[in-house]
Amino acid sequence: MANSKYEYVKREFEFHRHLPASNWIVVLIDGCHFHRFSELHAFEKPNDERALRLMNACATSMLEKFPDIVFAYGVSDEYSFVFREKTEFHKRRESKIISLCVSYFTSVYGMKWKDFFPNDFKETPYFDGRVVCYPNIKTIRDYLAWRQVDCHINNQYNTCFWALVKSGKTEKEAHQALKGTFSKDKNKLLLQQFQVNYNDEPAVFRKGSSVYRDKVKTDDCGNPIKRTREAITVSSFDLIGPEFWENHQYILGE
Ligand code: ATP
Ligand code: ATP
Ligand code: MG
Ligand code: MG
Ligand code: MG
Ligand code: MG
Repeated sequence: MANSKYEYVKREFEFHRHLPASNWIVVLIDGCHFHRFSELHAFEKPNDERALRLMNACATSMLEKFPDIVFAYGVSDEYSFVFREKTEFHKRRESKIISLCVSYFTSVYGMKWKDFFPNDFKETPYFDGRVVCYPNIKTIRDYLAWRQVDCHINNQYNTCFWALVKSGKTEKEAHQALKGTFSKDKNKLLLQQFQVNYNDEPAVFRKGSSVYRDKVKTDDCGNPIKRTREAITVSSFDLIGPEFWENHQYILGE
């Protein structure tokens, strides 16, 4: 390694924050100015499936690239990546972990864009990132439940909002019509005014997307002893109730 009289600027001034041991590390990334970005690229409202599939493809690449990511959850322009509790990825250095996640995700988003959209992007997509540590199974599961509840609340609102706008209301009128309404009022509005049963909306819109390594049985030439292998899977299960976690205890190492 090159050494010079200037080397002290690294040795004496660099400061590394290491994230605490025995915590699940979550990196949350979120698209910058995607309200504008989505309009500029004519995303379908409220949910553009191409954009969601692109986000999911990027998340899948993240699990392929970084084996210590055990679970990812995405909705809209955001994705949360959960690192296993005992990860020693870059010695748990915060800046390395955030910057590697954000730059890899952003780079894949740019590379895969053309697989989902017909034209080049008009503005460079970019993301921000933050990290939070959760010290036990309850808090990491509550974090994921919080994101999924947020998905539900936003999606239900947006589904009503865009139905009203597409039926001729101005955006201001649509917001006004929804002001102070509860969940059941919104379901009633969708059913009575638009003959839409909210629960029939695609699960990916209502519940977001989860990405994880699933154990799948391999069928090797009729061998009666079935082996399992891991395959990265994208699904839209409920993460709030206990069922998903009971069936996938290995994900969080319970
Ligand atoms: P790390 O992932 O830890 O950063 P690294 O392999 O990127 O490891 P660095 O210390 O960042 O290591 O060094 C970057 C290396 O990239 C250089 O040693 C050099 O080999 C190569 N490199 C970078 N820029 C150029 C360039 N313009 N021309 C030729 N080689 C380059
Ligand atoms: P910030 O830079 O602060 O994150 P933002 O404009 O990205 O601002 P968000 O709160 O992150 O705001 O919201 C993202 C916005 O991107 C949504 O409100 C929505 O308009 C748009 N968006 C993201 N994904 C999709 C999608 N799949 N289909 C339609 N619109 C989307
Ligand atoms: Mg602990
Ligand atoms: Mg955003
Ligand atoms: Mg967002
Ligand atoms: Mg380097």
